[in-house]
Amino acid sequence: MAHAILAFCCAACFMPALANPMLVMSIPARWHGTEYVPDPDGSREPICESCARQLLQRFERDRLPIPKIVREADYFERAYHIAHDQQDS
Ligand SMILES: [Zn+2]
Repeated sequence: MAHAILAFCCAACFMPALANPMLVMSIPARWHGTEYVPDPDGSREPICESCARQLLQRFERDRLPIPKIVREADYFERAYHIAHDQQDS
């Protein structure tokens, strides 16, 4: 079965990344000339795994509501490790 893979540049650190478009974490951001800047009124833009992990830690520290799907133990595996999955036989 073919997986849809989203190739994008992280809205937070601008590194190119791959993710599952259904599961990727995103933040509200706005394109500002040459880069994304956080903007509560902006559209949601995808972020990479390392930024998503930092965001999750901040949410835990600040006791903000974390989406149920993100709390699942294998969330990062399923959202960001798509290529590895496809290499498993
Ligand atoms: Zn990033």
